[in-house]
Amino acid sequence: MRGTLRALFLTASATRAFASCAHGTFLHPREEGGAVEVGKFGYIGSIGPLHWAALDSPANNLCATGTRQSPINMVDGVFTVLQGSDVQLTVNDMPNGADFENLGTTVEVVAQGGTLKVADKQFELQQFHFHLPSEHLDNGTSQAMEMHMVFQSAQKEIAVIGVYINIADQPSSNTTTTTSLSKAAPKRSLPGLTRRESPLAATPLLETLFTSLPAITNPGTRTKTAPLAMGPLVDLLLKGNTFQTYSGSLTTPPCSEGVRWLVSGARLAVTPATFARARDVLGFNARFVQNAPGEPNALMQAAVGTAVAAVEAGAGLAGGRV
Ligand SMILES: [Zn+2]
Repeated sequence: MRGTLRALFLTASATRAFASCAHGTFLHPREEGGAVEVGKFGYIGSIGPLHWAALDSPANNLCATGTRQSPINMVDGVFTVLQGSDVQLTVNDMPNGADFENLGTTVEVVAQGGTLKVADKQFELQQFHFHLPSEHLDNGTSQAMEMHMVFQSAQKEIAVIGVYINIADQPSSNTTTTTSLSKAAPKRSLPGLTRRESPLAATPLLETLFTSLPAITNPGTRTKTAPLAMGPLVDLLLKGNTFQTYSGSLTTPPCSEGVRWLVSGARLAVTPATFARARDVLGFNARFVQNAPGEPNALMQAAVGTAVAAVEAGAGLAGGRV
């Protein structure tokens, strides 16, 4: 089977794949003042998540072999709960606007300072970017979008705050919305669907940010946003909030592990029109859900299944059966 796998990995070209989830970190340093670098991996077809390891082997091998890969289905048993009060978070306002870039694989805001302290470790905010639909599943349920705030420590460890983004029921307001994770919801209306508190107001930060999307519809482009106030987001993430935390990986190549994930219970929201604008630019950029931490890599499992099926098919032919 190993030989088969190696052959599979080598069939794709060894194009260098860039890591949007790790952009701005030691894994993929940002070029100051340089052109916007466009990712070589993708989400569909021969450059999609099934082929990430082959796009740049051995650098991306963990995408196909790692056993603590992200995203995952956030169900009981795969995470521990962290109170917002156990986390220290600051994010600097950007009164002169922020650089907003289209990396081809996501759209990303370059941070202008911010810190995360959790379990006596300190991380610095590098950037935040977006996935559509959500990469993590909330108890089996996909959400409209997910924001990833990427932090790096002086020891080159990575922590990511993941925040689900839902479709708003009403236009933006200045009050923060603190809907709960489905786990805390009192009742389910339909099997597999989560109830949420309503009404859900659009988040001013996202409404402001995404008005700049039409300026970066093409990969490799950059624009300057309107002034961004980050205080309401910090309040939303800390006050009365909980995080589902686990040790996983980058959700993009090279799929490095040891990433500390904090998936927020509190959510953000965008109006239907803003969601449509984001969908027009992002298209689809979510990696498929990985096995629970510690279980075999899903691609390895699939390769074993394929090998077994091939042997059985061969045996069937040899035996004269079709
Ligand atoms: Zn990401």
